[in-house]
Amino acid sequence: MSANDYENPVPPGVDAGRPTIARVYDALLGGADNFASDRAVVAALREVCPQISDVAVQNRRALGRGIGYLAGTLGVRQFLDLGSGLPTAENTHQVAGRSVSEARVVYVDIDPMVRAHSRSLLSGDGGTAVVVADLRDPERVLDDPGLREVIDFTQPVAIVLAGILHHLHDDENPKAIVDAYLSAAPVGSPLLITHFCSSAPDAAALEQACLSVLGTGRFRTMEEITGYFDGTTLLAPGVVYLPDFHPDTPSGRPLTTTDRLIAGGIGLKL
Ligand code: SAM
Repeated sequence: MSANDYENPVPPGVDAGRPTIARVYDALLGGADNFASDRAVVAALREVCPQISDVAVQNRRALGRGIGYLAGTLGVRQFLDLGSGLPTAENTHQVAGRSVSEARVVYVDIDPMVRAHSRSLLSGDGGTAVVVADLRDPERVLDDPGLREVIDFTQPVAIVLAGILHHLHDDENPKAIVDAYLSAAPVGSPLLITHFCSSAPDAAALEQACLSVLGTGRFRTMEEITGYFDGTTLLAPGVVYLPDFHPDTPSGRPLTTTDRLIAGGIGLKL
């Protein structure tokens, strides 16, 4: 299906003329759930960072490896995937389901397009739910009846914040939002984060571009990203650039500047 096939009809609640993070990310990943407005943003970002699609693909792959590690190595069965994005390949319940039977996954996203395509995120056995909500309101999200039907907060639940905290401004206090979700989960629950990182030489220009065409996109330092894990035990290898984040096989090649645009880590709630 070509991207244009979604121009008409536009799903209810969706403003095709206004780009959104979910649809821009979908376009970067080569998906079809995006509009001309989103592809214009991709073009603008590509001017500044020609490898921007690779950065998105790296993030998506790292998320898959992280979920695979949580489910396959740690045996985690429940996942609260916050800022989960539009359905694509290797959604969290599919990755987790390969390692644990009856994985429980709740996808939370603000974008109404996610609701329109939620069928692809539902396993059909009641083990997954999609909640269209603003994750900056943890109380509202955590009280959602659909979420409560799927997640048992007396058992470990992975708090997954992949590629989303950098879309929160400093004055929205992202650390307090992380802590609100962590506080709902029992001790030992994992926290998985991937985040735009300011170490790369081209990070500042890309941050400016993101802010001007999307309105969000904060590139934080390794120290700031590591700070999100306060209140957890950070698992090896710590907060690292994505090629070093639970690689299937170590690449053995030197990191490129593109590799340094996103960092990720996993901690276990203390
Ligand atoms: N987590 C997925 C991944 O890493 O592959 C998707 C990342 S995508 C870059 C960020 C997602 O966060 C988008 O789908 C966007 O709609 C969602 N998002 C942005 N702000 C949000 C908010 N305040 N509440 C919930 N979702 C939000």
